[in-house]
Amino acid sequence: AQLLDVDKDGLNMRLKSEQEQMQASDSVRMMWIFREKLPAFKMRDQLLQSISKSQVLVVSGETGCGKTTQLPQFILEHEIANGRGASCNIICTQPRRISAISVATRVAAERGENIGETVGYQIRLESRQSVDTRLLFCTTGVLLRKLVQDPNLRGVSHVLVDEIHERGMNEDFLIIILRDLLPQRPDLRLVLMSATINAELFSQYFGNAPMVQIPGFTFPVAQYYLEDILEKTSHRVSSEDGGRGRGYQDRSRRDKVDALSAVFEATDIDKEYSNYSRVTKQSLQSWSSEKLDLGLIEAAIEYICRHEGEGAILVFLTGWDDISKLLDQIKENPFLRDQEKFLVLPLHGSMPTINQREIFQRPPIGMRKIVIATNIAETSITIDDVVYVLDCGKAKETSYDALNKLACLLPSWISKASALQRKGRAGRVQPGVCFHLYPKLIFEAMPQYQLPEILRTPLQELCLQIKSLQLGYVSEFLSKALQPPEPLAVQNAIELLITIGAFDESEQLTPLGCHLATLPMDPRIGKMLLMGAVFQCLGPALTIAAALGHRDPFVLPIDRKEAADEARRRFAGDSYSDHIAILRAFESWQLAKLDGRDRQYCWQNYLSSATLNMLENMRLQFLDLLSDIGFYDHSRGLQSYNKYSSNLEMVRAVLCAGLFPSIVQCKQRGKRTAFFTKEDGKVEPHPGSVNARVNYFPFPWLIYSDKVKTTGIYIRDSTNISDYAVLMFGGTLSSNKSGDGVEMLGGYLQFSATKKVAQLIQELRRELDGLLQQ
Ligand code: ADP
Ligand code: MG
Repeated sequence: AQLLDVDKDGLNMRLKSEQEQMQASDSVRMMWIFREKLPAFKMRDQLLQSISKSQVLVVSGETGCGKTTQLPQFILEHEIANGRGASCNIICTQPRRISAISVATRVAAERGENIGETVGYQIRLESRQSVDTRLLFCTTGVLLRKLVQDPNLRGVSHVLVDEIHERGMNEDFLIIILRDLLPQRPDLRLVLMSATINAELFSQYFGNAPMVQIPGFTFPVAQYYLEDILEKTSHRVSSEDGGRGRGYQDRSRRDKVDALSAVFEATDIDKEYSNYSRVTKQSLQSWSSEKLDLGLIEAAIEYICRHEGEGAILVFLTGWDDISKLLDQIKENPFLRDQEKFLVLPLHGSMPTINQREIFQRPPIGMRKIVIATNIAETSITIDDVVYVLDCGKAKETSYDALNKLACLLPSWISKASALQRKGRAGRVQPGVCFHLYPKLIFEAMPQYQLPEILRTPLQELCLQIKSLQLGYVSEFLSKALQPPEPLAVQNAIELLITIGAFDESEQLTPLGCHLATLPMDPRIGKMLLMGAVFQCLGPALTIAAALGHRDPFVLPIDRKEAADEARRRFAGDSYSDHIAILRAFESWQLAKLDGRDRQYCWQNYLSSATLNMLENMRLQFLDLLSDIGFYDHSRGLQSYNKYSSNLEMVRAVLCAGLFPSIVQCKQRGKRTAFFTKEDGKVEPHPGSVNARVNYFPFPWLIYSDKVKTTGIYIRDSTNISDYAVLMFGGTLSSNKSGDGVEMLGGYLQFSATKKVAQLIQELRRELDGLLQQ
């Protein structure tokens, strides 16, 4: 105990007070001046008082007012001033890895320290913290893992849950746990931080907890929609649209619109507009899958750079694919590619880190900063000098279609709240301009708020977490959520987990389930990786899992669809497998990359190099995760896990392990093959699949990634597999009543096999369980 005290004294001395900070370096002083001007600063005393009076506090305030960077710091400074510097332990969660790093780095700098001293961060597989760390920024997932280790969070004095308005699944999950924990930890303080006005909802959830709103200030932002750009060439605009008749009396604005339409002349805006002008509320959903018109966005950037005043441009796109395509387009644009004049910066959640300096600081005089971002720049990251915002109107959103068994992450229209939030980003330092690159009609059809993630995603991952945190029965626990998910969605998730062998019949985690619970991904993708590692064909498993988690690397140019299909068939060879086609495409791209021919290779083979690079990155992330849970050893290298990688039977079996129960039975009807699934009856391979044109298909089963329902039901990306693969790797098995057959998954598909075979299989499966248990 004495040692501890000495340590504490030492630490107290190291924890600087505000006054000491003021005497620190110039940069700290400058930041101090900046901090004092933030709206949150004026509320400092009130915030601290409320926190000391009440166990839970809900803080809301406009983005950029200083919630994330200041509030945890106020608490830290307050604790230091009251002699509790050494004993406090403040945790602030962030929904995204990149914001946890960025915020922690900023706060450490504001305190004149290196990251990892008093202020640290922790994200999965990466952390900067030490025994001195008193304020830790971490992802919500990391805090959930800490709860697995210590359900009471002993030693933690404050938990701040940030960006709660986003209604992410992890955050909704975390607040159920914390609400239950509070009575057992009366000394623990909880602060919920939210951007918008939805504070009441959270306050009610915590028994009418007090709320503090930080008043904000932003400059007015002019808003334009797609039709405004066409205003001057009015013959193009259909008369029923809602966006006409706005005043353009202002002469200079008139000129601007003139210039704008001149720049847009070259793009396909006419077609775009006539498409969009037919949109109704009902059809909004089907429009979201339309590709973004990057030409339009490029033209808008060029227009601003040519005709508008100074100020950074912030472009909202949906994901890495469009960001990297737009970057390529800008590199080719004769006007915009001038690197002396334009500083073009991508900002995306899966970038390893962001260059704080370039993103946040003003560029040198004469240079314009153009940030091309996903919706991460909507609330988590605030770039002060943005004056122009280009809003494509979409964001990637996970959605759970009952038909598709895997969660899909697809672009869809954002909510009104998000569109307004994006607009607001333009008015931080002066009046700004926002171009929404869609008609006002679309804006009006957008939902007010986005549905909380817990209501629109599959719940398998969540169910695994609930079990590994030992929170009781899944449905009972989830009924305590802010907005509980549908019972049917919960039941589907549990059933799937039983089917893939992660839960036993009484909803308890199996050894496989325990491992899957530690992997932050769809459990079926996790299972494919684990099986890939155990059965020594990890390389192929990594590639295919990455493609399932992201997308396949093939591009389908509308005008050369035939040639592109042909390229895909070439990769598939005689494998009857879309997945093996992906695998071969990836592997030959890697070879081409070794001697710098990758761009050309992509071009010739209808592959997307942005996607392939992303897949390569994801493979590395998967390896880190596998190594974290003991299924991979970096020092041995991937080749030691690839003994059977060229054995396609093995690869197919591992694919089956991951994709089951998405399985199709192939029945021979004379010279043709017909395809059936248990729940849909007759289905067809998707026309884009390499299995589409096969008349006679000499195999019993196809395993597939997902289904689409259009005129019929089509299975996309499929691979043929053998009876043995299904029996060995296809989820749980149990003997049926008569005992001489093997009934799969309580009647999912009937096999006839002799009792002996059934016994043998079960023995093998037990062996497999044993392997996983080690
Ligand atoms: P909120 O959480 O309320 O949205 P933040 O605390 O994130 O606000 O940001 C407060 C201010 O600090 C903003 O003006 C933002 O631009 C600035 N800021 C945040 N992070 C950095 C950084 N890494 N570098 C420079 N400025 C930053
Ligand atoms: Mg914030």
